Amino acid sequence: MRKQVIAGNWKMNKLLGESEQFIDEVKGQVPSADQVESVVVAPFTALHSLVQKTKGTDVKIGAQNMHFEESGAFTGEVSPEMLKDIGVEYVVLGHSERRELFGETDETVNKKTHAAFKHGLTPIVCVGESDEQRENNETFTVVENQVKNALEGLTTDQVKATIIAYEPIWAIGTGKTATAADANEVCAHVRQAVKEFAGEEAAEAVRIQYGGSVKPANVEELLGQSDIDGALVGGASLQPESFLALVEAG
Ligand code: 13P
Repeated sequence: MRKQVIAGNWKMNKLLGESEQFIDEVKGQVPSADQVESVVVAPFTALHSLVQKTKGTDVKIGAQNMHFEESGAFTGEVSPEMLKDIGVEYVVLGHSERRELFGETDETVNKKTHAAFKHGLTPIVCVGESDEQRENNETFTVVENQVKNALEGLTTDQVKATIIAYEPIWAIGTGKTATAADANEVCAHVRQAVKEFAGEEAAEAVRIQYGGSVKPANVEELLGQSDIDGALVGGASLQPESFLALVEAG
């Protein structure tokens, strides 16, 4: 049985004080981590403080990106080791906003996925098709290629420990959610793709989140699908009450 993982991706929102206040409100109220993984994916500036504040609680902290190199002349970048050093446990990789706006490619996502495992971080690897690709019936091919490219070269155990987030680009921040059945169909296809290149055991273990306008009103139906093992949530993760409603559904 795969454990649901609900992650709130705050994107470029919340000052340090606001982040801390949020954590103070939710940390004693999230369900036990034995039941569901509750992750807050915060801006770099809040990570250290939030890790300190969530020690011994059921809230885990993730970063929104990182570089794949360990150190060096990469002005403006943050390394996997730096994240690990301050106690971050998860890292979102290849979010469509980074692919579209900041030149992230399948190749860099693959390097970052390897780097995450090397440093003991759990990668949340994002994939998803654009509106145009969906119109052209390319969803399966696009998503399958992104998954295979991102996970290329990982061991079976690493594939099993990866979290894949299926986020159709047209559903992000638009209020348009894929129907639960459509989202599940793509997630099932992703699982099939994982089976083809990493075997049945890996496919059964890998967790696949859905993301794109998830909110308390639709989360239960999405999480009730056979191949959806959690959610990666933007807008609706910014308010404590709504974040709590999401993790309680997990
Ligand atoms: P929204 O939930 O705001 O649509 O954002 C989804 C997302 O991009 C999470 O990573």
